[in-house]
Formats: sequence, C-alpha cells, structure tokens
Amino acid sequence: MENFFEFYAVGQGLFYGGCIDFCGKPFRIVYDCGSSDGLNGLLPALNRYARYNGTEPIDLLVLSHFHFDHFCGIPALLKNRGAKLIVMPYCTPFDRLVLASEIENSRLSSDEKDLLRPWCSDPLSLLGEYAENIAVMMNPEDFDEEWEDRPRDGDFYQGNFINLESFNRQRKYVYLMQSSVRLSQPVWEFMVHRPKLDPKKKKLREAAVSAALQQKSPEEILGDKNELKKFSRLLKAACKQDENLDSVLLYHAPIKKGMRASEAECPCPPYCKTMRTGTLLTGDADLANEWAALSSGLRDDKDNIGIFQVPHHGAASGFTDYRFDVCAVSYGVKNHYGHPKPATLKEINAHGCELRFVNENNNYFYRIY
Ligand SMILES: [Zn+2]
Repeated sequence: MENFFEFYAVGQGLFYGGCIDFCGKPFRIVYDCGSSDGLNGLLPALNRYARYNGTEPIDLLVLSHFHFDHFCGIPALLKNRGAKLIVMPYCTPFDRLVLASEIENSRLSSDEKDLLRPWCSDPLSLLGEYAENIAVMMNPEDFDEEWEDRPRDGDFYQGNFINLESFNRQRKYVYLMQSSVRLSQPVWEFMVHRPKLDPKKKKLREAAVSAALQQKSPEEILGDKNELKKFSRLLKAACKQDENLDSVLLYHAPIKKGMRASEAECPCPPYCKTMRTGTLLTGDADLANEWAALSSGLRDDKDNIGIFQVPHHGAASGFTDYRFDVCAVSYGVKNHYGHPKPATLKEINAHGCELRFVNENNNYFYRIY
C-alpha cells in the first residue's frame, strides 16, 4: 500500500482527500468538500472518491470554514460513510447566517437548498449524526459574542498536542482552545491551526449582526427565506466585501524521515521529480496575516512543506513567502472573481515553485513513499 493524495476536480471550490498506509490499514483523510456548482460540480469527484475509498468511514475530516464552495458536498460525502473524527471551526450564529444567505442566493437547485438549510441552523448536531467525534476549534473571541450561544457539552482541551487514538468510539465533542494543535498517530502527523480573528473584521461582523438581529433572532432569520435575503443585503452593506475569510488550516506529513513525495503516474520513483513530504492545506485563509503564528506552531516542519494549497483559489494576497515545491490552486475556469489572480501566480513563479492548476478539467494527484 502506498500513501496517495488528490486535489479533486470540482471547479470553483475545494475537495482534497488522501489515503495513508497505517500499518497495512488505510487511514483516510479529507479536507473540505465543496464546489460553487453544487452537487453537479462535485458528483464526478465524489464518484472518483468512492471508487478508491468505497464506503469506509473517513478517519479524519477537516472542514476549513462554512462557505458552501468548501462545504456543500459534506452531506453527500458523509452519507453512508460517516467519519471517525471531524475537526471544524466553531460556527457562530453569524457564520450560520452567512452560510444560509449564501445558499439562499446561490444557483443551487431547490432540492440542494432544502438539504443544506438544516445544516446551517445547527451544523454541530447534524455533523454529529455522521461523526463519532467532533473537535471544534475555538477562538477566544467566540465566547464574547453578543448573542446567547453556549457550546454544547464537551471537554475543553487546553493542550496543543492530542493523540488521535485518545478519541474513543463514543460520540463526543472536544473544544480545542489553542490556535495550533498537533494530532498524532504513530505513522503520520497532523497539525490543525485556526487563525485569530482580526478585530477589525470582528467589528464589521458585529455591526452587521446587531443590525439584523434588532428585531429577529438567528433562528427566525434562518427559518425565513425573505429574512435571509434581507440579512444578506445588510451584510453586504456592512462588510463591503466578504470579510469572513478565516479558515482552519491542516498540515500533514509522514513521521518517518527519508520518505519522498512524487507526482502521479510516474512509474519510476528514482527518475521522477521528488518533493518534500509535508502538505499544507489553507482553505480560504489570509496567510499574509497568519504566517508568523502558523510558522511558530509548525516549528521545523515549515521547512518540510513540499505541497502547498494556494489559499482562497489564488485570490490577491499579501502573502509572498512561497518556499514550497508545488503550489496547487483550485478554482473554476469561469469564475467571476478572476481567480487565480495574475499577481499571485507571478509571485509563485518568481519563487521557482511549480504551479498545478486544479479546476473542472484537472485534478492533482501525488503520492508519498
Ligand atoms: Zn472558497
């Protein structure tokens, strides 16, 4: 058995999965599963995922954030399969309202909207139906939101290291309180990192939410399409543009030294280009602000990042530290945002990184051996 990983072809969105040889047994990981085109855009990738992984449960599923181009395939992915552990950011009522209004205003079919709506009002309990364990990454800011919203019962975990095998088979919630937490098992290591919320962004969020919540509760808005439309207008006016770009990041790499990463179909490891073995998945994070904090969590591992997911579909960014082997950018060929931005690609090229374009037509596959 070998360790193989894939950025799936989903267009504007992100769906990443992999399979790790855990002492002869497969250990399956997934990071995000969504596409702006909804299930239509995801079905070929979901079928491909099923061809390699069957209906075995996902051992570790990390959700970067609750935007539907990263999230809308999760119900379909987890159905008949489930997950042993889901790691996700805490989803505040604000995040839920944003997600719900995005879904309401999207081009998704009404069936898809019906499927996703309940996931917005209470994602934790819906995900809980499919997961044995859920680890929620908290920001200290999550606690002093204006509204009444208490996390449900669970353990508050203060450490920055947790053994994956310590999660038991009973469903339970663990709240991870540090911004960087290592999840370990004997063969592979993982680190999840949740950026700190920018105080300016937090102000904008609060302004939009308190305007919306003057007369209605989140539940009332979530339950009413017209209220949701009103909410998205308020949100747009308050935030000017989408300010909700914090994402849980995932770093993973083999623990054993001396392994190599190589691309796809090459049958002859000694002759093909090899890369460093760490992968950094970044969702839609704004790395320019977060790189210093992330690097200190990663310590020496930051020099082992061979494969890097260009954040936010290649959107313009102040991040310039592209010291990786391969930069994979996942975007839709006809997206309206101009992703990936030429300036971002130029910066990546200037650092001598290989660019890999992932879109409706191209996946990106690599293995580690
Ligand atoms: Zn996105």
